[in-house]
Amino acid sequence: MTNAEPLPDRLEGAGAAEALERLMRTRIRPETRMQCRVCWFVYDPAEGLPDWGVEPGTPFEELPADWACPDCGHPKAAFLPADGSL
Ligand SMILES: [Zn+2]
Repeated sequence: MTNAEPLPDRLEGAGAAEALERLMRTRIRPETRMQCRVCWFVYDPAEGLPDWGVEPGTPFEELPADWACPDCGHPKAAFLPADGSL
């Protein structure tokens, strides 16, 4: 598996969520910025969220399982890698 695998144009059927999650795992690195697909809030691991008790340098993966988007309250599952647009 390389990390050059593109996101598919469309995801359909029962396996879509699973396929998306697998794709994300191949693309998320400790320094990967993650973007909320609901409100477009971006979590930058280099900056963390000091106001929320998240130290700078905390990878998205290490955020608590019950962590939610500070802006819209959606769970971690609502986030997608944002670095593709850099
Ligand atoms: Zn959000």
